Amino acid sequence: MIGATEKVEEHLCLSVKVLQRAGIAAGYQGSITWWRTSSFEGRKQTNWLEYEVSEVLHEDCHRPVRLTLKYLIEGCNYRVPLDFDWTPCHYGGYRPWLNCPTCHVRSGTLFYVSWELWECRRCLNLAYTCQSEGHKSRLLRKILKLRGQLGQESGGIHAPLPLAPPPGWHSRRFNKKIREIIVAEANYWKG
Ligand SMILES: [Zn+2]
Repeated sequence: MIGATEKVEEHLCLSVKVLQRAGIAAGYQGSITWWRTSSFEGRKQTNWLEYEVSEVLHEDCHRPVRLTLKYLIEGCNYRVPLDFDWTPCHYGGYRPWLNCPTCHVRSGTLFYVSWELWECRRCLNLAYTCQSEGHKSRLLRKILKLRGQLGQESGGIHAPLPLAPPPGWHSRRFNKKIREIIVAEANYWKG
């Protein structure tokens, strides 16, 4: 399970705990550095995002309801709105969550899939599965094949995934491929 946790963190993610440490106050603006450096077509870049907490407050708990992420990937600017949810703590106060844009279920962490797409662990199908060694090695071969289709020539399963599609690829095809790799790798590390 330790391996699984490490693997999940290799994907760009946004944890509500990180936001909470920085402060989730109405109107707050902050930035987060994504620790991963991507490598695509020989270029390396460190990614970061800025975020802005809305001034609109939840009518019951009077805490912000919305967050806007702003980030730049391969020369394109993205603005992605995400919703907060709040649940009362046992000993008072409220605990923040991020609503998954796909399933709308509250989650502690969202994972960057591609472009504007962020999803929770559940949507990415990171369920625990028990796997035999034969199954694992087949899965590894599949992962390396998929990564090869995105132009990766070395680095194996530990190399960062590209943040932009190879030349001539439509974003939809790229998104689908990235998603397939993330799911396969999550299953590989969980197994
Ligand atoms: Zn979800």
